Amino acid sequence: MKDSIILPEKEFSVHEECGIIGISSVTKQNLAQDIYYGLFALQHRGQESAGIAVSYEKTKIAYYKNMGLVHEVFGEEELKLLPSGQTAIGHVRYSTTGSSNVVNAQPVVFYGRYGRMALAHNGNIVNADAIKERMIKAGHIFQSSIDSEVVAALMNHYAAESILTGIRKACEDILGAFAFVILAEGILYAVRDSRGMKPLIMGTKDGMTVFASESCALDAIDAKIVRDVLPGEIIKVNPDGTTESCFLNNICKKACIFEYVYLARSDSVIDNVSVYDARYQCGKLLAELHKIDADIVAGVPDSALVCARGYSDTSGIPYVDALSKNRYVGRSFIQPSQAMRESSVKIKLNAFRSNIIGKRLILIDDSIVRGTTSKKIIKLLRQNGVKEVHMLVASPIIKFPCYFGVDMQTKEQLIGGFRDETAICADIGADSLHYIPLELLKSACQCKNNNYCVACFDGNYPYDLADIHCGYNIFE
Ligand code: SF4
Repeated sequence: MKDSIILPEKEFSVHEECGIIGISSVTKQNLAQDIYYGLFALQHRGQESAGIAVSYEKTKIAYYKNMGLVHEVFGEEELKLLPSGQTAIGHVRYSTTGSSNVVNAQPVVFYGRYGRMALAHNGNIVNADAIKERMIKAGHIFQSSIDSEVVAALMNHYAAESILTGIRKACEDILGAFAFVILAEGILYAVRDSRGMKPLIMGTKDGMTVFASESCALDAIDAKIVRDVLPGEIIKVNPDGTTESCFLNNICKKACIFEYVYLARSDSVIDNVSVYDARYQCGKLLAELHKIDADIVAGVPDSALVCARGYSDTSGIPYVDALSKNRYVGRSFIQPSQAMRESSVKIKLNAFRSNIIGKRLILIDDSIVRGTTSKKIIKLLRQNGVKEVHMLVASPIIKFPCYFGVDMQTKEQLIGGFRDETAICADIGADSLHYIPLELLKSACQCKNNNYCVACFDGNYPYDLADIHCGYNIFE
């Protein structure tokens, strides 16, 4: 078919590992419903599995989790099975560690020193393998291949004095990016790693305290933003709705800048910076830096559309829709393995031929990871009559792997791992190619005191590389 291309799902984009949400209410109520709507808003962060755990008595937790999208996993019946309670957590998953099966779905629910506990995790623990080996030698057993189970076991191991001590000590031992919501003894805890790499925001609604990976989940359930959980902060929500905080050691903020580039929804606000504004500003800055003689501007859906608007408004070059993305991503699209990536699991992208035929197009994308998608998109646009394609990218060249839960794990996977702008341009078949400089991306995201991780662009990781490599990726 001339007007469309088929892309293997994983080529279409990079993926975030997970989305999490937790609620504590001063009254017993049907929290599963709110968690469900929150997870729905976080679906872009993970499409492999979904789960909800509800604490309904001090030491009892009911839960349901399965493979699939939120609406596939939870129908009315499943939601009705979950009892009313005062605390609940939920999770959507995309795996970058651990295989894709229901054993690895979250929340992780286990029996510990204080009865049943549950944990939902976003991020990647880089030294989990070393800790796991140590614990197995000490007599612990594990049933899944996910790092989150190691964290749960470690929390329980350290919890002789109190659950809070267990959480704090475990979080001091683990290295990497993490945001947790935890249920224990009917109490909700929320934790953000000492670098604040993964987002976690707190909200409130009618006697409920809510934590979620992104503010769009708070909006979905009409909760008001209170504030972001701070890097290294552990928040305990008491049954009367009051909160207590304590902090981990060695706090040094390095939030993942890729949240603004691609991962988060444009309508979210992270650490008081609007994702929409950051993306729009990137478009503006690109327009000021690269004045290109062209007829139209378009963005690759979805996250680059805002950048394209920023470019168009600043340059005066008309904005058009050049590409249409098929928004249906079903259950069969969610396998992350290389074998699945190269198999027949596909999604479709269409071109708006009448908008682009005979035109010189400025095409803006948020990032180029493997390059295969850009190549196919440019080919598609040419097949549909575009005269020139000048590509602009709203992030710098991705040269280094991410070890923190974003699915670009080796330099070899990256088109920019060993190539410069000119070589990448030739490879993807564009008429010209320019990336936004790192300093401009940082300014668009209101960077202060180097408070962002930008390691995939400059190789400066927020942890010592030797520590990262000592424990990375043994779970398969
Ligand atoms: S390396 Fe890149 S993707 Fe990974 S946490 Fe840092 S900024 Fe985010």
